[in-house]
Amino acid sequence: MVNVYVGLGSNLDNPRAHVTRAIQELSQLAHCELLLSSKLYSSKPVGPQDQDDFVNAVVLLITELEAHDLLDQLQALEQQHQRVRERHWGPRTLDLDMLLFGEQCISSSRLSVPHPEMKNRAFVLAPLVELSPELTMPDGTSLQQLLNQCPIDDLTCLEP
Ligand code: AMP
Repeated sequence: MVNVYVGLGSNLDNPRAHVTRAIQELSQLAHCELLLSSKLYSSKPVGPQDQDDFVNAVVLLITELEAHDLLDQLQALEQQHQRVRERHWGPRTLDLDMLLFGEQCISSSRLSVPHPEMKNRAFVLAPLVELSPELTMPDGTSLQQLLNQCPIDDLTCLEP
């Protein structure tokens, strides 16, 4: 069994509802168990600014699946949310990113883990640290330390 952190994001068609429903759906994935889910956060879009803010969250799953099989499940879930990929970094109903898969480093045509952008994204680091304050990258770097170095001006927690 492996601990997996998955990042969620949405900025189309009632983003809060998409993220909340996706967390519920992740809790029902076969061969997985949902251990923790973060609060919801609001962030400014990366890339084109002519789109709505994102709602983000992170969940911790435990799974017996191999990483690529879990990616298949995550992509199927994205499809269930009528995700349309119109442009790079454009608006989307649901984006699911595999952030960390145990301490594995994976580099294949379909999957890069740890997620290559996670170190630079406060909307990923803040909910990760909320869930697991002592968490580190596979190379031992502290996530809290990465968060301390990351600009968080545009990030708002949506819950008390
Ligand atoms: P995006 O448009 O940002 O959702 O990127 C989706 C593409 O990224 C898919 O083709 C995935 O196969 C690929 N990908 C690579 N690494 C990851 C990862 N860690 N989590 C999710 N998708 C990934």
